[in-house]
Amino acid sequence: MPIEFEIPESVKNQSNLTEMVAEQVIRKVSRYFDEHEHERPWEYINFIWPFIQQMEAANLKRSLEVKKNGHGKASGNGQKKQSTFQVRMIHMIENLSWGDAGIYLCTPSSALAGAAIQAVGTPDQKERFLDRFTHGKPKWGAMAMTEPQAGSDTSNIQTTARLDPETNEWVLNGEKIFVTNGSLASRESEGILVIWATLDRSLGRAGMRPFVVEAGTPGMTVTKLEEKLGIRASDTAAIVFQDCRIPYDNILGSPELKKPGARTEKGFKGAMKTFDSSRPWVAASAMGIARAAFEFTRDTLAAQGITIPVDAAYHELSAIQRDLLDMETQLKAGWLLTVRSAALMDAGQPNSLEASMAKVKSGQVVTRITQKCVELLGPLGYSRELLVEKWMRDAKINDIYEGTGQINTLIVARRILGYTRKELK
Ligand SMILES: Cc1cc2nc3c(=O)[nH]c(=O)nc-3n(C[C@H](O)[C@H](O)[C@H](O)COP(=O)(O)OP(=O)(O)OC[C@H]3O[C@@H](n4cnc5c(N)ncnc54)[C@H](O)[C@@H]3O)c2cc1C
Repeated sequence: MPIEFEIPESVKNQSNLTEMVAEQVIRKVSRYFDEHEHERPWEYINFIWPFIQQMEAANLKRSLEVKKNGHGKASGNGQKKQSTFQVRMIHMIENLSWGDAGIYLCTPSSALAGAAIQAVGTPDQKERFLDRFTHGKPKWGAMAMTEPQAGSDTSNIQTTARLDPETNEWVLNGEKIFVTNGSLASRESEGILVIWATLDRSLGRAGMRPFVVEAGTPGMTVTKLEEKLGIRASDTAAIVFQDCRIPYDNILGSPELKKPGARTEKGFKGAMKTFDSSRPWVAASAMGIARAAFEFTRDTLAAQGITIPVDAAYHELSAIQRDLLDMETQLKAGWLLTVRSAALMDAGQPNSLEASMAKVKSGQVVTRITQKCVELLGPLGYSRELLVEKWMRDAKINDIYEGTGQINTLIVARRILGYTRKELK
């Protein structure tokens, strides 16, 4: 199926709304929350909550329509009905991150927990855990995979999930670090966390499953809030699980580990599909930061008389003019890869390769563009008077979380060259 690059009207409308929120509300408090890292933006969140609800309601309505008619499949009247959910999400995220990426991350939503539940949850789990995000008070979702000894090497996860046959509950024990929205999701009412734990360490990745833990579950304790280089409005926590008991039905995917003929789709591999949707989101956020820095720098230089004459040959341009052209090209390249990875998913096609490509490229692009902008603006770029130095700090995380640049490059290489994880490390 060809990938449509024309943005549907409904997505444009929603995109305009988020653009307005980003410009009128988020950007104005960006510096404040950068300087007050653990002073949560409660008042701000309550203020913009109606906008967010409006956006989510639009998303939900759309995804319900799609579910009814099938995901990118023929509907009853024979016409193709294609989801626009991912494309919608990347536009929304790009715009909000243009406003402030840290604030975007901590706006109430099911976030990565929602992506995991969507990827592998049963219809009942989707209803139990995701419906709550469409109404009522602000609430947050988080996903915790990383541990002190397990980041890129997820096979080393030590958090255990043991089934207590007496109570038919899972018992979680272990420590998770660097959990985005970890403290918001675990403390506020109705928040949810998706926790990756192992049912059998000897099986490595094949023994791992995600579990949903609801806010306030005894045995789950936030032990640390990180102080960070960038995205400082965002909440990043360490969480300890000590005999944390959750219902049997909170496991995502099948608990069967090695049953002959068992569908691996519902196990670890199925749950990894979370990243097929979340990597394009990270890429979109990176693109929002990059665009913010690029537009600001381009406009500032234009006010100083530095523009790009359309009739000049490339060799006649100054170094700064060439830098501007290069930045714009990189921005477009990163965005096109991001749109492609999202559009493939909406079309119901595999997108793991494209999601990793978009993630790698956008991480590189945002780092390069924001550094270049600081450079081009000179001391002003380095000064806290402007947000340019902040965008440079906010940029780097996009090359770290959801799989580092190196790890996603490996994924791309394995998929293109046909190597397994063992063959290309
Ligand atoms: C602000 C922030 C928010 C985060 N949010 C979350 C979250 O919500 N949930 C969550 O689970 N995690 C989260 N993380 C964790 C993040 O996903 C990990 O930090 C990341 O996966 C890298 O793991 P690591 O820190 O253990 O680094 P390591 O895996 O130790 O990597 C260190 C360096 O070695 C490189 N490297 C590792 N293996 C290879 C290899 N095979 N080939 C080449 N290079 C390699 C890496 O690319 C990196 O440059 C967050 C981190 C930060 C900083």
